[in-house]
Amino acid sequence: MIYLDHAATTPLDPQVREAMLPWLDDAVGYGNPASDHALGRRAWAAVEHARAQVAALVGAMPAEIIWTSGATESNNLAIKGALEFRGHAGAHLVTSRIEHKSVVDTCRHLEARGVRVTWLVPEANGTIGVEQVLAAVRPETVLVSLMWVNNETGAINPIHELAPHLRERGVLLHVDAVQAAGKLPIDLDTTPIDLLSLSAHKLHGPKGIGALFVRKRPRARLAPQIHGGGHEQGMRSGTLATHQIVGMGCACALAAQRLATDAPHLAALREQLWQRLRVLPGVYRNGDPAHSAPHILNLSFEGVEGESLRARLGDLAISSGSACSSATREPSYVLRALGRDDELAGASLRFSVGRTTTSEDIDRAAARVLAEVGALRALSPRWGT
Ligand code: PMP
Repeated sequence: MIYLDHAATTPLDPQVREAMLPWLDDAVGYGNPASDHALGRRAWAAVEHARAQVAALVGAMPAEIIWTSGATESNNLAIKGALEFRGHAGAHLVTSRIEHKSVVDTCRHLEARGVRVTWLVPEANGTIGVEQVLAAVRPETVLVSLMWVNNETGAINPIHELAPHLRERGVLLHVDAVQAAGKLPIDLDTTPIDLLSLSAHKLHGPKGIGALFVRKRPRARLAPQIHGGGHEQGMRSGTLATHQIVGMGCACALAAQRLATDAPHLAALREQLWQRLRVLPGVYRNGDPAHSAPHILNLSFEGVEGESLRARLGDLAISSGSACSSATREPSYVLRALGRDDELAGASLRFSVGRTTTSEDIDRAAARVLAEVGALRALSPRWGT
């Protein structure tokens, strides 16, 4: 199996696994981090060390990092929390049609409860323009929620450029940075983003753990979405999962160390794959390579049926778009928003490379795709006629 689905999830780094194990196995590792005794304090120290590691990856202060179960929860907390704190009545929210489902469905949920939502449509290169966002902002706009990197196309939104404008207008900015962290430099010290979502399993960390950055100065105020013992500054109750948190901290520390070497390595692999596949007639690259994260290549193949192509490529771990929403089996809403028709959007593959991908993997995968697209086209009465 050639694994080219790193945008869906990444393998656990062996160093991360090693860092996690004592907190699962060791007789001293099971204390509740909230307990005021030696076992609890030891676990709390590990949690705080990890919090500092996550904060360092994105240029935040440790106290600005709130643990969650993953980016789906971070996105829910950021958006519902900000709107609920402000009060739904008369509130306005700006987002886009190409967000992850955990943002789209959260915004739809609020829309059904009376919040007005503006749904921006991407430009031809797959990004949301600064002018578009600013034109949508009104006096009653509470929050803009935009992803940094799109998980299907890799398109990078101009967050650095946008953030100061929104700060000036007093509008909160939430950024889903799941696909950006560890791939692009992020510095929240100099970029005025208010809320930022992260997930460990996209960075060679464990599944089921994520974080939400919540700015302290100026303070972003959120209504909690999970009530209970008042953990995480009252924003997210629940006993902290020490082993998961330690894993996320370690994964973020490794990502920070490796960013400068990982990003060019990934970009080189992605370009190698594109060079191998572009020789095919009727292959389209979705998104603009000049504004694209290094790990994602999304292609549409004319004259083939997407489902048949994926079935024939069973030895490759690739995705038809977002694995998270592929349960619906509809052509990608992201590609349709980019103007691809249903047929081309349905005949798309997302390849995403990672730290463990090799140049040989790329050559083998490309040969398999060339062979299977060719075979399907040979069977198709419409192709070439
Ligand atoms: N946002 C984006 C852009 C993603 O790619 C994903 C993962 N598919 C998520 C949010 C959800 O993250 P998690 O799996 O941690 O809930």
